[in-house]
Parts: sequence; C-alpha cells; structure tokens
Amino acid sequence: MITEDKKEEKSLNFIEEIVEADLQSGKYTQIVTRFPPEPNGYLHIGHASSICLNFGLTKKFPGYTNLRFDDTNPVTEDTEYVESIKRDIRWMGFEWKHELYASDYFDTLYDFAVSLIQRGLAYVDDSTSEEIAALKGTPTEPGKDSPYRDRSVEENLVLFEQMRNGDFPDGSRTLRAKIDMAHINMLMRDPILYRIKHAKHHRTGEKWCIYPMYDFAHGQSDSIETVTHSICTLEFAPHRELYDWLIAQLNIYPSHQYEFARRNLNYTVTSKRKLLQLVQEKHVSGWDDPRMPTISGLRRRGFTPESIRDFCDRIGVARRENMIDVGLLEFCVREDLNKKALRRMVVLDPLKVIITNFPEGETEMCHSENNPEDVSTGNREIPFTREIYIEKEDFMETPSKKYFRLAPGKMVRLKGAYIIQCDDFVKDENGEVTEVHCSYVENSKSGHDTTGIHVKGTLHWVSAAHAVKAEIRLYDRLFSVEDVSSEEGDFKDYINPESLHVITGYAEPALLDAEEGQSFQFLRKGYFVKDSDSQPGALVFNRTVTLRDNWAKAAEK
Ligand code: ATP
Ligand code: MG
Repeated sequence: MITEDKKEEKSLNFIEEIVEADLQSGKYTQIVTRFPPEPNGYLHIGHASSICLNFGLTKKFPGYTNLRFDDTNPVTEDTEYVESIKRDIRWMGFEWKHELYASDYFDTLYDFAVSLIQRGLAYVDDSTSEEIAALKGTPTEPGKDSPYRDRSVEENLVLFEQMRNGDFPDGSRTLRAKIDMAHINMLMRDPILYRIKHAKHHRTGEKWCIYPMYDFAHGQSDSIETVTHSICTLEFAPHRELYDWLIAQLNIYPSHQYEFARRNLNYTVTSKRKLLQLVQEKHVSGWDDPRMPTISGLRRRGFTPESIRDFCDRIGVARRENMIDVGLLEFCVREDLNKKALRRMVVLDPLKVIITNFPEGETEMCHSENNPEDVSTGNREIPFTREIYIEKEDFMETPSKKYFRLAPGKMVRLKGAYIIQCDDFVKDENGEVTEVHCSYVENSKSGHDTTGIHVKGTLHWVSAAHAVKAEIRLYDRLFSVEDVSSEEGDFKDYINPESLHVITGYAEPALLDAEEGQSFQFLRKGYFVKDSDSQPGALVFNRTVTLRDNWAKAAEK
C-alpha cells in the first residue's frame, strides 16, 4: 500500500491533478481551499493529512486556504478546542488566510432556508425522529411522504419563524428539504436542514435555538467563502448530490466537493469521540498525553512538524481507505531527528564500573561531538572519573562469541574517552554482578589515541559523581491490537496495560541545559525529548522512538 502511494508522491496526487487541470483550462485563476474542523476535540494524525492536503494545495498552486470552524453543534463544542486547533495548525507550519466560523453565517443560512420555503423547496415537519425514520424507506425500497409535506408556503414560513423564536421544544419539529422520498440516494429523501436545540453555543450564546444540520451548513459555508475545491473524506461522497442540489437551488457560488480516503493509523484510534473517552475516563493524562495520536500528543512525545509533514507526504492521497503502519511515522521522525538532535549519554539501567588505575577524586574532561551529522554543532565536554556507570546489558560474565561489549579480560572504548579493560567483577548473594573493575589504557583517549589498539565495541557511560538523575518515560503502543475498530466489544478493552514505563536514568551533566521540548539522541538508546513536567533539578524525558524499529525485529522472529 505504502509503495503504491509513494509513486503518487512523486507525480501529482489525484486532487492536485484536478486542480492543475482546472487552472490550465482557465476555470479558475486561483483556488480556495479550507480546513473545516469541528471544535469538539483536539486534532489528530488523521487531521494532519487533511491539513497537509488543503494547505499543501495552495502552497503548490496560486490561491489560499481558510481555517473554518464547523461549529454548528452547540453541545459538544468549546473554545478550548478552537485554541488548540489553531496552535496545532501553526505548529505544523501552516498559516490560514481567514479564520472563519460557520456560526457567523447563521443569519445568512436562516435566510437561505426561508428562500427555499418560499419556493416550495422546504417544509416544517412535526414528525418525531422515529416517525421520520419509519417513512425513510430502505436502499431498495422507496420512502413515503410525510403527512406534513404539503403544508402551504405561508404556514411553513410562520412555523419556521416560531421554531426560531423558541416556541417549540427540542425535537418537536424540523425543517426538511422537499426533494424526493423515492430518490435512490437515501440522503436526498427530504433531508433535515434544521433542528431545534435549546442550547448555549460557544460563540452565539443564546441567540439561536435552531441549528443547521451539517448538510445545510457545510456546502453553504463553502459557497459563501467562494471555496473552489472543498475536500472531505470518503464517507461524504453520498452527500455530494445534496451538496450540489442545495447550491443549485439557492443559486449561490458553485463550490465543488472532492473526497479522499480517511487515514487510519494502526495500534491507535483516530476518532475524536473515542479520544475524548480516553481523556475523560483518565486512561491517559490528557489530550496531549505522549501516547495519544493527537498532534499535541505527538508534539509532546517529541515528533517534529517536519516528520509529520513527511509522513503525510509519503502516505499521499488515496481513494481507498487503508491502515497506515505507525512504524512509518516513527521512521520519519528518526530521519528528521538524526539530522537535528544533539547526542547525549544517559545510562538507563546502571552498573557501576571502577577504573582502578584512575586517581580517586580527579576529573578529566573528555570531548565528544554534539552531532556527527551536523559539525556546526561542535563538541561538548564530558567529565570522566574513577567511577562511572554503564548499562547492565553492556557487561556479560560469560559472553557469547559475537558479544563485543564488556566481559572479563575484554576491552571496549568508552565513547569520547578511553579504552578500558575488564579485570574483575563483584557479585552479590543472588549472583548478580554489582560492580566491575577495569583499568584504562593510557594514551588511548579518543582523538589522541596512539596505542594502535583496535576494539570492536563502544559504550556510552556517565561519570557516577556527575550523573544527573532524570525521570525517563518509556512509551509503547497505546493499544495492543493493530486494527482497534475492527475488534469486537468496547475499544477500551484493547488498551495496552504496558504502554508506559517510568524509570530513572543517569544523564551526563550537559543535559541540565536542555530546554523544554528539545530533542536529543541518547546514544544507543533512542530519541528523547524534555517533557513539560520537568522542574528545575528534576528532569523528565519522554522517549520519542527507539533507534531501530523493535517491532519489525520482533515480528521477524
Ligand atoms: P473525527 O471522526 O475524529 O471526529 P471528523 O471528520 O468528525 O473526525 P472534523 O473536525 O469534522 O473531524 O474534521 C476536519 C477535517 O479533517 C474534515 O475535512 C475531515 O474529513 C478531515 N479528517 C478527519 N479525520 C480524518 C482522517 N482520519 N484522515 C483524513 N482526514 C480526516
Ligand atoms: Mg466531523
């Protein structure tokens, strides 16, 4: 799937082809797109695809992109979401031309509805939603006309105004388009345009107690904004006929709708409704929990805007729904951070090593490059002392043949410092190695090595006296099954109970200067980012990704 899409990436995707043709034919001289989130949750990785597509089009072709909040549902929407959406789009590297709200068009939409009523194209229906559903028919059977369908224009105008004035309770009446109850497209069987909802709206307050339905707001908002290419996801394909019908009947600017496939990521859910449940029921710490597939969660986890844009480019734009491997997203962030992240040494599971021939109480400064991929970042100082920590897994009492790390009698290089040789080790009563005794080789210091000794293994390490303790949060997939929505029962039954491990790491002192949100490569351990929970003297790091794809390796076995 990914390879197929990669081909599309090099040439134009199918929506870009449509736009290019429209510009070449002179149909448009510039295009207008919009990103239309409903402010009822935080943006997730699926939205990132839509953002890259909509904003990407007007970067590539003449025109601009608006941000339009599709805020026609007063109950679930909130200003907190509006702010988070704006922050996330800007963080992704995009800027909109106009910030717009569907709710700003409530007066215009009301007038549109009145004009439909006046021309006999809409009517007030007193049926309950059950009664409406009962007459709707099925895909193979036509529906039946509502008993209220033939009300006079005058009566409809009065009733609709009363609806607006708050004379009726919720759910007691609707305004419906008068199209065709036998239409093969079920959405054309007199769709509901307005419903009564006595609820406070986050922007219009108590002004309205009737709210337009999606179908009677979206296309009309597009038209008011002269959107040329209105891009949405595939599930809206059957709505296109109604979209076109309403625009034609109202005789307003002819925006056109195009559909592309939703993007789903494995081992997670991309539905705001489900993500909201995870937050409300405290399965995660919030919308920006680093395990969440939200843009704010990915940011806190250490993903970069570049890596997310690269991911969206690579998966491209498809006409069929498919599941994208989260491994691709991780690949993209490794690619990006490899170029940018400063290298640091942090021991996650310490074993003490005593360099017996190094004087007690003495500190020698070693140097190592901040990032070998970017020499402009220079070197940093690393203190070397008699007692250091290495990873437990970097010592083996009886090594296998291919083990090039530390073992009795064996030599390794300490990154940026000396070659050491293991002379002895100490075990506790459980047989666990608690201390390793080594001697360093004189004249073997990195960059000044005149010994000619060749060692195969290089280990990361920290001086025990200088080590800074840091809380390290190790994350795994939030769900333990690949395709969460295809599983039976409650999706929350599939939450991975092992998705967070908190350990204490021993960091080299240079990490005391880390800034919040700054990413590092912890040598041999992965990419990590300084978390916002950090306090002066209490560092917290999130692991963004390991250096290699452990999941792919596990799958091969
Ligand atoms: P959710 O089901 O998560 O609530 P939504 O489609 O209701 O998603 P909106 O706020 O209405 O969320 O979406 C804004 C835009 O982002 C829409 O154009 C929508 O089609 C697009 N979008 C949402 N989810 C995805 C996805 N998984 N892949 C691609 N585009 C998406
Ligand atoms: Mg929606």
